[in-house]
Amino acid sequence: MTEADRNRPADPIQAGTEDRFFYTISDACVMCGACQSACPTGAITAGEESYEISPAACIDCGTCSAVCPVGAAQPVPGLRESISARDLAESRCYFNPGCAIYLYRPELPDRMLDLLRRNLDSCIGLHTTCCRHDPQLEEGAILINNCAGCDRRFRSLYRGVRTISYWEVLDSLPRLDLPDRTGLTVSVHDSCGYRHKPQVHRAVRNLLRRMHVELRESPFSGTRSVCCGDNFYGLVPNEEVERRIQMRAGQLPCQDVVVSCIGCARAMTQAGKRAHYLPDLLFSQDAEPILDCLDAYHAKLADHIARHSDGQRGL
Ligand code: SF4
Ligand code: SF4
Repeated sequence: MTEADRNRPADPIQAGTEDRFFYTISDACVMCGACQSACPTGAITAGEESYEISPAACIDCGTCSAVCPVGAAQPVPGLRESISARDLAESRCYFNPGCAIYLYRPELPDRMLDLLRRNLDSCIGLHTTCCRHDPQLEEGAILINNCAGCDRRFRSLYRGVRTISYWEVLDSLPRLDLPDRTGLTVSVHDSCGYRHKPQVHRAVRNLLRRMHVELRESPFSGTRSVCCGDNFYGLVPNEEVERRIQMRAGQLPCQDVVVSCIGCARAMTQAGKRAHYLPDLLFSQDAEPILDCLDAYHAKLADHIARHSDGQRGL
């Protein structure tokens, strides 16, 4: 890549053309209707020979896939893949912590960035412009994402920007110094934005094993995970969001649940689980319970997003 290429701004795809992820129903459908009654957004209707999903109404929550008895409801993943840890060295990299982490522990992003810088040869910058705004990064820039939602938006909304999860990068570092969490047994709740990325699920579990954390998996984990309920906020009444949160918590066998998203952490806490936010585990600190109610949490997040349309892009 030439210097001119490096400095050319990435080309934002027009607003409204986000590469949305949705589910579809195959010919294997036996028309039992279970998915239709489980879908929170009313995206599923009965067709002539099978049920059908409206991509525009689907929010990629995974519920239909979890309830389908014959595996007919399957995701249509987005078109743009992220990169692998091998490709990191070739371009400018930025760590993107995501907005929600600043509402939780504002000092964590710097610690996470510092961990990367101490363990990677490449020079890593910090990127704090919210993923809902044009990142204004140079062509070919790589965003190392903490947040699953950011990863999905950056890889689908903005041409020229490439992404990888923070967890894959850490897992690619064999000499990474990790705390020993012997005695902790957890279920992992995989966030929606990473649901279609088994490489992220593997990396998270590898890191937990390297910390000697024991895993007790739900049958609905990894690519079969289901939304914690938080993504339904604003789409269905709060009581329904709360019912979905309880439903998801009930699918996780352990009281201790590892999450990599603050919205999921809040949801699991509300459901009575002990949520362990993955970045906290890296630094051997216990999670702080997030006690905001749904409305309060989303109001704070919306305010933070609005105020971070133009963040920091420092190398
Ligand atoms: S993924 Fe969720 S929103 Fe989409 S069709 Fe299935 S149940 Fe409905
Ligand atoms: S749950 Fe599966 S088999 Fe039943 S209607 Fe939905 S897609 Fe078809």
